[in-house]
Amino acid sequence: MSDKEYRVDFKCPACGEDGNKVEEVLTHVHQYSEVDFLGASGGTVAADYGAVSYDGDTAEVESYRCAHCCENLVDEQGVIVSDEAALLEWLKKRNMITEINSDEET
Ligand SMILES: [Zn+2]
Repeated sequence: MSDKEYRVDFKCPACGEDGNKVEEVLTHVHQYSEVDFLGASGGTVAADYGAVSYDGDTAEVESYRCAHCCENLVDEQGVIVSDEAALLEWLKKRNMITEINSDEET
């Protein structure tokens, strides 16, 4: 359980979309997709997938980006934000985060 919890209220500096999502971009992951249907059209066969899961053991965060315009978040030095602590700082500086009251106040 975390000491503090924050709700993310991301507003993209690049496209200005309010209430949009910031998404984590992972690299070096193995993804597993259940194949439910196969569709053949001309010479092409394409699958329809059921449940998707992934193995995050080797995963690394590549960046955080706007889910709308896919622009990566960068700090003042132009460095791409690529860990959760840096993401928290980035959001705090831009007032895009709200601390959620902890249990002791209820
Ligand atoms: Zn955007």
